[in-house]
Amino acid sequence: MEKEIKSLLERLTEAHGVSGYEMGVGKIVYHELEKYADSVETDNFGNVISLKKASVKDAPKVMLAGHMDEIGLIVKHIDDKGFLFFEKVGGISPRVLFSQPVVVHGKKGPVSGLINCKPPETPEEANKIPDLKAFFIDVGAKNKAEAEKLGVRIGDSVTFERPFKVLGSGNILASKAFDDRVGVCVIIETMKKLAKEKVEANVYGVADVQEEVGCRGAQVAAYRIAPNMAIAVDITLAGDIPGVAEKDQVTKIGAGPAIKVMDEAGGGLGLISHPKVRELLVSTAEEEKIPYQMEVLPRGSTDAAAIHLTREGVPSGVISIPTRYAHSYEILDVNDVVNAVKLLTATIKKIKKNINFK
Ligand SMILES: [Zn+2]
Repeated sequence: MEKEIKSLLERLTEAHGVSGYEMGVGKIVYHELEKYADSVETDNFGNVISLKKASVKDAPKVMLAGHMDEIGLIVKHIDDKGFLFFEKVGGISPRVLFSQPVVVHGKKGPVSGLINCKPPETPEEANKIPDLKAFFIDVGAKNKAEAEKLGVRIGDSVTFERPFKVLGSGNILASKAFDDRVGVCVIIETMKKLAKEKVEANVYGVADVQEEVGCRGAQVAAYRIAPNMAIAVDITLAGDIPGVAEKDQVTKIGAGPAIKVMDEAGGGLGLISHPKVRELLVSTAEEEKIPYQMEVLPRGSTDAAAIHLTREGVPSGVISIPTRYAHSYEILDVNDVVNAVKLLTATIKKIKKNINFK
């Protein structure tokens, strides 16, 4: 399974799809899900919704959600000298922008560029991180007309050029968009495994859009599906790097997928996992001897935050893939992905038709 997951992860993360611009990656995901699900469709919003039908009547509906969109930029202005100015889409810190290669998705195809800002003029300035507004993209155009000739327009999406890499002894992977193509990968691989199984649930494998700007795709997909239970698959912070105290690490890579207890404790859109969903995940991991970690995340959230507030409330949980350097050049361990697929598949197989959350 590891080899197949690596190759799928490479294809998914090398595809481009800033929030609202997921068409390209959506096509890849559609064709993958089509091979394993009983039905697949793309809704008006761009969400790809697949279904594995239950083997029994009156079975509960279980929604699995991973988001296809990635953080990135949108061109907002081209100046007379041909430099591009942008707005961010999703959580982007200026500290990751220095000398960052990017791809501008223009009307004539991809245009290479480099992000930078003016050099500091004083020693004090050299020690400060400039505001996001100070950065611009240099596409090598000598003026506005030449930039436009390259096909660059206001409104074009921009993705970071951080190629898929295999590190260490082969299990450590790096990419621009494990958030959340790894979740999409886990859902595709789970639908593939379930294709040969009889299950007592209608399983909706959903690859949704626009999570990074506020879980918008998952919100409409959940309304349509009206699930009885949901599990999101997304990345979480792995703080197992120099300078982070053990108690603040949240998770470690290679120690198994994380089962979420809570995220976004600051009052924003977040989730406290439903105790029965969380217990189902924990007991499945224990029974199947799948390594796992518990996750309490102080900030950030996932699609489950939107899904669990749908209609009369949807009991929800999250399987998280521990990831270092979230929202920059991200690193994870493929073993955690393999184990997440095992955990999600085994959990769904344990769901009984008469599951009760009260
Ligand atoms: Zn995410």
